[in-house]
Amino acid sequence: MTQKMKPARRILDLPPYLFKEIDDKKRAVLAQGRPLINLGIGDPDLPTPSFVVEAMAREIRRTENQKYPAYEGSAAFRKAVAGYMRERFGVEADPDREVMALIGSKEGIAHFAWGFIDPGDISLVPDPGYPVYRITTELSGGTAYMLPMEERSGFFPDLSEIPESVLKKAKILYLNYPNNPTGAVADRERLAETVVWAKKHGLIIVPDAAYAEIVYDPGDRFSLLSLPGARDVVIEFHSFSKTFNMTGWRIGFAVGNQTLISGLLKIKTNLDSGVFDAIQLASAAGLSRLPSFLDGLVAEYKIRKEALTEILSIHGWKFFPPAGAFYVWAECPKGIASKDWTMRLIGQTGIVTTPGSGFGNAGEGYVRFSLTQPVQVIRRVDEALSKILVKV
Ligand code: PLP
Repeated sequence: MTQKMKPARRILDLPPYLFKEIDDKKRAVLAQGRPLINLGIGDPDLPTPSFVVEAMAREIRRTENQKYPAYEGSAAFRKAVAGYMRERFGVEADPDREVMALIGSKEGIAHFAWGFIDPGDISLVPDPGYPVYRITTELSGGTAYMLPMEERSGFFPDLSEIPESVLKKAKILYLNYPNNPTGAVADRERLAETVVWAKKHGLIIVPDAAYAEIVYDPGDRFSLLSLPGARDVVIEFHSFSKTFNMTGWRIGFAVGNQTLISGLLKIKTNLDSGVFDAIQLASAAGLSRLPSFLDGLVAEYKIRKEALTEILSIHGWKFFPPAGAFYVWAECPKGIASKDWTMRLIGQTGIVTTPGSGFGNAGEGYVRFSLTQPVQVIRRVDEALSKILVKV
């Protein structure tokens, strides 16, 4: 390799790939002919609903859908999203100025920081949390200030602990409810206070609402944009991935403050060429039939959640009872690092989880179970756990 082939600093500075060793361990178990119970990744096992697939089959044949799409998303898609935000969250959004299509919410979240973080700026990042908030801040030249979230405070960060010197440089506060990895849901009162606090400090709030529809009590369905004054400082990111089992389709949307939406759009017009129109139209068709589909989906996750938490209780595990998303955040035995515990679980029981340390330092001491396997598979955790040599 010549000196000039050396990757850029921003790549060299990326953290090492945590899952390499775990992947190797999984392969070793399979090579011994032992089965895995894979509760590691958050990729739904269930299919995209047929009404979305059928709409896609229709739209893909239309020549007009085979061209470059509009950067901000088609008018039909943005109108459908505005209708969805009104019906599901009581939020009014102007489809022309306050809504845009994304190639999945990850893409939008990642690019947003490029539009708003300069070197020297700080992002306030929940820990444990989805790793993209920190990485995209750093790729943009900024610094992530981690906000540890504890179980006893409902996995809500203590904003009063942030030093004044950090607040001065902070531009973005990321929040994610229902939360990956903990399953905590939004505490409206605290969020309302947070909007007031963010305005006082001139901060942008970026709520990641990827799991907004996966709540076990319908009363927990919530958009931060419904709070008074939120429109002044919020850009909220939504996804079709988890709501409609569409992780592979790559579609989501951003909704919120007009200036923040146009900044993101400016970045994206220079970097990508929008979402395939057929996918936008199929997704818009999906939104119109969401409620009936979603009831069944959430009921299924509830069955899985109850099966897994009952098994964990029987085996003496401590876990945070999830109110949303499709994860169970469970404590490791004292004194064992989450990665070591993950490796041991795979090796001795075939159960695959995600180590909490992959979500930040505050995730250490936990593992995340994903409920993305049928309940029959989840029930096998009971027998598998009896094989583990270390008692929890
Ligand atoms: N946000 C959170 C918290 C997630 O867990 C995920 C995916 O796992 C995403 C965003 C990204 O979802 P997508 O890019 O598929 O919309």
